[in-house]
Amino acid sequence: MAELKFDTKKIKAGYDSKDNNLAISPPIYQTTSYDFKNTQHAQNLFTYKEAGYLYTRVGNPTVTYFAERVKALDGAKNAVAVGSGMAAISYTLLNLASKGGTILASPYLYGGTIDAFDRLFPELGIKIKLTDAVLDPQKLEEQITDDVKAIYVESISNPNAYLLDIDEISKVAHKHGVPVVVDNTLATPYLYRPLEHGADIVVYSATKALTGHGNIIAGLILDSGDMSLYTKEKYPQFYEPIVMLGGKSTADIFPDNFFIFRATLVYLNLLGAALSPQDAYLGIIGLETLSERVAKQSSNAAKIAAYLESSPAVEWVRHPSLASYKFKELADKYLTNGGGGVLSFGVKGTPEQEAKFINSIKLFHYHVNLGDARSLIVDSPNTTHSELNEDELKLADIPHNLVRISAGLEDADDLIADLEQAFTAAGLL
Ligand SMILES: *Cc1c(COP(=O)(O)O)cnc(C)c1O
Repeated sequence: MAELKFDTKKIKAGYDSKDNNLAISPPIYQTTSYDFKNTQHAQNLFTYKEAGYLYTRVGNPTVTYFAERVKALDGAKNAVAVGSGMAAISYTLLNLASKGGTILASPYLYGGTIDAFDRLFPELGIKIKLTDAVLDPQKLEEQITDDVKAIYVESISNPNAYLLDIDEISKVAHKHGVPVVVDNTLATPYLYRPLEHGADIVVYSATKALTGHGNIIAGLILDSGDMSLYTKEKYPQFYEPIVMLGGKSTADIFPDNFFIFRATLVYLNLLGAALSPQDAYLGIIGLETLSERVAKQSSNAAKIAAYLESSPAVEWVRHPSLASYKFKELADKYLTNGGGGVLSFGVKGTPEQEAKFINSIKLFHYHVNLGDARSLIVDSPNTTHSELNEDELKLADIPHNLVRISAGLEDADDLIADLEQAFTAAGLL
């Protein structure tokens, strides 16, 4: 059979009813542990001589079905699902820089990621360098010193909808033997698949548009399966003998999958942010409508962006659908399925008027999630990105009057009418 298309994979990939009493909907394996058949079986599982499940913190069939489905959608070779997007990001970067080193990172990132970069990683001996050179790969190349263990970017950034050229970034990174990690949360594999553009590792907050109903916290780590970047000299952690593995290294056990294997064996196992089987099940159901949801979110966001751009209450608008978009050329080339549900705009008024505007909104939910079926509005500099100091806000190009919208699945006319009445209530029209 030919390679299945995206929309078929989102319904069928990674699960076969024949393995589960012909159940069409994946069962929720609500169990902590799995019986050993005998002592030999137990030993084989512990030393990875035999595939199987041991304990749900490190593996559960429902969680595997979820990871396998996203793996197929992204065209990845290996995948693991974890308990949150932050766990996916932290475990990935710890796995790459477990011996220390520098992560060269985009400044256009989720606020929680910047917070971890400021407060967590330096304490663990990992330096973070935020650089706007991600916009200019030639300049970026000059910053790739021997100490750099990874380049970290968001494909479409939160909250600004910056779009980076992953093809070009990957080219310069690979010249220096450095892997590129892409947080693809805002894009989802429906809009953009980083591994097809040279990236090596993809992380997700599956909490957002990937599963799309604002009802689970979940994350994923995926990789391309190319382990050749992880040399013994630069990444010795993958080649060290581990007692539990009978003195073998992670690279000995899984030569084509030691990056995710070590992330699971060390970080998921020992730091422990496991995804629950219930949540994995809800995630699988969410994935079944990924294309339909993200297409509608993109078209709703485009309509809202066009309205905002024409409004005298608004100073500027950022969304890939607009002719005025800063990365229009890249968007035309890469985002052929739509610009995504997230847009931002600047309120043309005083901070008090902006507050009055937010407080007058009736249909949009005022909270920090995004990618939900419900439309959301938030004043990012005061909330989702309040961890950023003035320099970081400036570097990230987040003006104080920025308002972020995540378009949901409602009727766009109702959403636009809500914005109009709130602008009026705030005296902005
Ligand atoms: C929300 C978000 C995260 C963090 O994910 P959680 O599931 O909330 O831990 C990471 N990256 C981006 C781009 C996000 O929007």
